[in-house]
Amino acid sequence: MKFGTKVIHAGIEPDEATGAVMTPIYMTTTYAQKRPGEHKGYEYSRTQNPTRTTLEKNIAALENTKYGLCFASGMAAIDAIMRMLQPGDEVISSNDVYGGTYRLLKQVYEKVGIKSHFIPMQDTNKVLECINENTKMIWVETPTNPLLNIIDLEAIGKIAKENDLIFAVDNTFATPCLQNPIDFGAHISMHSVTKYLGGHSDVVMGAVAVNDDELAEKLYFHQNSIGAVPSPFDAFLVLRGLKTLHIRMERHSENGKAVAEFLQNHPKIDKVYYPGFESHPNHEVAKKQMSNFGGMVSFTLKGDDIDETLDIISKLKIFTLAESLGGVESLIGHPATMTHASIPPEVRHKTGVLDSLIRVSVGIEDKDDLIADLEQAFNS
Ligand SMILES: *Cc1c(COP(=O)(O)O)cnc(C)c1O
Repeated sequence: MKFGTKVIHAGIEPDEATGAVMTPIYMTTTYAQKRPGEHKGYEYSRTQNPTRTTLEKNIAALENTKYGLCFASGMAAIDAIMRMLQPGDEVISSNDVYGGTYRLLKQVYEKVGIKSHFIPMQDTNKVLECINENTKMIWVETPTNPLLNIIDLEAIGKIAKENDLIFAVDNTFATPCLQNPIDFGAHISMHSVTKYLGGHSDVVMGAVAVNDDELAEKLYFHQNSIGAVPSPFDAFLVLRGLKTLHIRMERHSENGKAVAEFLQNHPKIDKVYYPGFESHPNHEVAKKQMSNFGGMVSFTLKGDDIDETLDIISKLKIFTLAESLGGVESLIGHPATMTHASIPPEVRHKTGVLDSLIRVSVGIEDKDDLIADLEQAFNS
């Protein structure tokens, strides 16, 4: 099955009891048993729920894996993965990771003796330098947030294989529509479903897709033991959202390109970060591992003035200033005062998160309106 058919059909059957074409929302905590253990595969909804099972099968199909598991948030999904590690184990992570991932690794896992190294993985040789006898996992985010760096999944996959390491990818930005990390040697593909998979800014959820039986068993154990599971209603909303993922990603990518090109040519703009540009340092890698470049674009202003930046943001009418990304509506973020506010300015500036850095999650509105909105905010 091709991707556009899978989003609508994979793992989804008409309801056995009624023939309902849409997956019913099974709002039940428990299931009748004839005798203890004699049931239809469902016992208790923390462990399994039919609406969630359907979504998990669908997500597995989209990532070309045997198993899919859903969690109450992206962070809960990452936590379930990290719990596979033991005190003394080490993680090598890309340095430009989601702030919540950095916080989890630094402030929760380091306390229990699991150390993480944050390195610029665009240069894959840096990973080799970091591996020691305690290394257990490589954690990669690509494209990264907010600077849209691209990391070579195939190259990291080889390193992971040669050194017998778990290779996990946060695939939130690309989605399985544009990139399947498992095909490049990753063992785990993880998502903040909250973003593009849900796609309508109305659900917080996470997901993990794996092929390996042993990894799947550990993850199911954590999913059930820790209990950070999504509700059946949220599973339904995501099933509904996923049906248009391929169409949305096509439009996000088309609009992302148009916005990036507009910004590139605007006299007030200094630098545009967008993996679709040939001038992007890892454009060739992006072309190899992604089928399109998505809707995330970041840029800085000439002069790097924070007041001018905030002034422009406040003049936008269609782009909404908000955390998060990946919904149908265009959002704009200011990392220096929002997601990266807790990082000291000197540190922030070194990694490229300047005062005027603006990140846009380009939505699926008409691109002419989006560009006109940016134009009026820059020129008024
Ligand atoms: C949002 C996000 C997360 C965390 O997901 P939540 O659903 O907010 O818990 C993890 N990784 C990336 C790349 C994200 O954008």
